[in-house]
Amino acid sequence: MNKLPTIDHFLRESKHSETLLVNQMSLSRAENNQTVYKFGFGQSPFPVPKEISQSLAEAAHRKEYMNVQGHVPLRQAIANFHQVRESKKWHADNIIIGAGSKILLFCVMAAFEKAEVLLPAPSWVSYEPQAKLAGHKATWLTTSFDNKWHLTPEQLDEFCCNREDSNTPLILVLNYPSNPTGQTYNASELAELATVMRKHNIIVIADEIYSLLTYEKKYQTLADFYPEGCIVSSGLSKWCGAGGWRLGFMHIPVQLGKLMQTVIGVASETYSCAPSPIQIAATQAYENLELADKFISKQVDLLSEISEYCTKELTQVSVKVHQAEGGFYLFPDFSYFTEKLKAHNIHTSEQLTSVLMNEIGVALLPGSAFGMHKFSLTTRLAFVDFEGEQIVNDVALTHDFEKIKQGIKQLCDWLNAL
Ligand code: PLP
Repeated sequence: MNKLPTIDHFLRESKHSETLLVNQMSLSRAENNQTVYKFGFGQSPFPVPKEISQSLAEAAHRKEYMNVQGHVPLRQAIANFHQVRESKKWHADNIIIGAGSKILLFCVMAAFEKAEVLLPAPSWVSYEPQAKLAGHKATWLTTSFDNKWHLTPEQLDEFCCNREDSNTPLILVLNYPSNPTGQTYNASELAELATVMRKHNIIVIADEIYSLLTYEKKYQTLADFYPEGCIVSSGLSKWCGAGGWRLGFMHIPVQLGKLMQTVIGVASETYSCAPSPIQIAATQAYENLELADKFISKQVDLLSEISEYCTKELTQVSVKVHQAEGGFYLFPDFSYFTEKLKAHNIHTSEQLTSVLMNEIGVALLPGSAFGMHKFSLTTRLAFVDFEGEQIVNDVALTHDFEKIKQGIKQLCDWLNAL
């Protein structure tokens, strides 16, 4: 039999996504009838509103390719939706639709021949691999619990002033409310950051995928303070519970010149267009402001209640954690237990999460997956292990998140017994 010469050493280094790995470990424990508290995988537990699913069913026959930039009525509906809810002054011409915002993030990075991508640590898992796939250098700036895991203007300014290759465009990805920390920035913080961004001509991708799930109804966007250099990224995945539908968008300001045309070029050579029936259904979702309002406020009420509960319980046993301000994540820091954990041969966040999974079935993701140093005993806790379907449909709104309460209790008991 003829053998092909091995190609392995020509392949890129590919890390298995730690998010999916935890999901797999959870599933295999569940298959063996062992309880798993699924705090690892951060998928929206809420159903897509039935009116929107119905629109999708009715649009199933739409088999044509749509234009690469996206269905015009959808882009108009998105502009209007964000104008009404968040006072953004957007025009449909400056919006591009993609098969999820993730591919659009990559398209922007791939639009640059050369760039440096700057990421606050902790940040979402996919930015760094995407930067590398696009051939760019990725740099982490580590933030701290005391600063609520926020990038500070001083830190950003210092980094920019000391950059070796200051002619290479700098792309900063700023995600708020944050996956993994649940924290968001207020207006004065954004204004101060914007001053530094302007001083150093930083191109910012504001990843606002969780903006509609901000618990305080008034959402602050960096685009208000830095409109000329701020690309906003969002989509249906989180607020509409439609991650698998793969519908995202980006607003790219005209001040960024040819960037939109270049991104459209990359899109046309990769995904061609977001699926047509999904674009039609998404148009309905963004046009029906009243439905979105109702749906979002039920989610936000429940998520903030769960976040408050988890934060209180964990804080009581000396875990350092900030209550979430949006989305569905907490970023517990177990550094108080460093010595006790050492005595159990636990030195890294990966060791900690794997022991928690094996001993008590609590699935968390290690801080190292989000750019934290491996010895930082931080983790991400996604508090979405509940039946969102029942809760959204429940008229009485009895907020039952028993499974989460049990998981948090297991975790606290385990820490108390160390
Ligand atoms: N950005 C962040 C911070 C996310 O958490 C996710 C999804 O988990 C995405 C982007 C990608 O979302 P989409 O489903 O629109 O590709």
